[in-house]
Amino acid sequence: MRRMKRTKIIATLGPASNDRAMIARLFEAGADVFRINMSHASHDLMRTLVRSIRSVEEEFRRPIAILVDLQGPKLRVGTFGDGPVDLAEGAEFVLDSDKKPGDATRVHLPHPEILRALRPGHTVLVDDGKVRLRVTEATAKRAVAVVEVAGRISDKKGVSLPDTEIPVAAMTEKDRSDLEAALDAGIDWVALSFVQRPEDVADVKKTARGRAKVLSKIEKPQAIARLEEILEVSDALMVARGDLGVEMPLEKVPGLQKRITRMARRLGKPVVVATQMLESMITAPVPTRAEVSDVATAVFEGADAVMLSAESAAGRYPIEAVATMSRIAAEVESDQVYRAVINGQRTPPEATGADAIAVAARDVAETLDVKAIIAWTASGATGLRIARERPKPPILAITPNVEAARRLAIVWGVHAVVAEDAKNVDDMAERACRIAGTEGFGVPGDRVIIVAGVPFGTPGATNMVRIAFVA
Ligand code: PEP
Repeated sequence: MRRMKRTKIIATLGPASNDRAMIARLFEAGADVFRINMSHASHDLMRTLVRSIRSVEEEFRRPIAILVDLQGPKLRVGTFGDGPVDLAEGAEFVLDSDKKPGDATRVHLPHPEILRALRPGHTVLVDDGKVRLRVTEATAKRAVAVVEVAGRISDKKGVSLPDTEIPVAAMTEKDRSDLEAALDAGIDWVALSFVQRPEDVADVKKTARGRAKVLSKIEKPQAIARLEEILEVSDALMVARGDLGVEMPLEKVPGLQKRITRMARRLGKPVVVATQMLESMITAPVPTRAEVSDVATAVFEGADAVMLSAESAAGRYPIEAVATMSRIAAEVESDQVYRAVINGQRTPPEATGADAIAVAARDVAETLDVKAIIAWTASGATGLRIARERPKPPILAITPNVEAARRLAIVWGVHAVVAEDAKNVDDMAERACRIAGTEGFGVPGDRVIIVAGVPFGTPGATNMVRIAFVA
């Protein structure tokens, strides 16, 4: 099964899509990666979903990536004695360490380390920014704040602190236990929420020990301030526009999206654009013009993947949402200005053999009419470096390693296939040409390019470009 789009689609699973039949239909409609959100899934549910996805993978004989999203240090207020409270503009409101139920004057903030970190002048946002408080006095046990944006607060509403570096690790106890369970279940990518520092990512990588790749969700101003360092240690990034748009002024999000996607593309690491892409499709079978334009923008930016959250997890039209995204991607990618836009954003290669070969492969592909660039790759790294070039022909990555094939499902333009490793260069070329034919990349005699590293199985040894013909 070949996709007619290069941009990948991540569909979040949830009550509207958790059953196997639905997962299969979402896959058929164009979902390349399934996201399991640990804010809502138990370990048992996560394991059941992994089994269902693997069974869909077997049915369609296509590698599928599973992305497990860790909740991270989500901060919440405590509870209220008499239901929700309405805070008026200019009123005083206290966050404190007292476990007693709250009222219209105060509430428990069950995070002592946060109370210690708050300072006069800091902003406290409650319920995705619906209520805004500014701290006027702060001690280790109590922060007095004035209400700047009035609104209602109820039990356990989320708290965001755009000005405060949260002195807690990005992984909570729950995250650690979720991560271990997910790694045991054999997932491919783990997404880390509320990343603030490179060490947050390094911690997850240390636990994962290569069993899954690590994607950093960029959703805090602290992460924006250290973007390059965070990207250096991450395997991929997500522009998590939901929380990013709470912690930073909304009008800054489009520019940040461009900065993040460009930086990730420069380093050749996958980048995902997420949240509210087709929000109205939670309740309607068609999107708004603005949403179509939003997805198109991400595709024009060369994002590796675009993501659906509630649209596929809890909406009424999950299949239509994936199919709509798929159509938008395919249409934009065949638009007459698409190539010029994508090429205009390309950055020079790094001074490595793999990048020199990737550029050479693209050059050859653009000089000759080739039907595919074939990457014979052990770890998937060659596939990633070729994808970094965003070449015109599709990329066929052939690997003996099923984990590598699955992880490549998130990468722009890569169609990954698992095959036995080659005995020698001629055997490799022969098999690559045959697989190009059986996977539908061309008919016998069509030209392809093969990129490989010889001797096989040596990471980073990409050193060969060969022109060949579909068999
Ligand atoms: C986001 O904030 O945009 C995001 C993707 O994270 P979550 O859905 O976990 O809130």
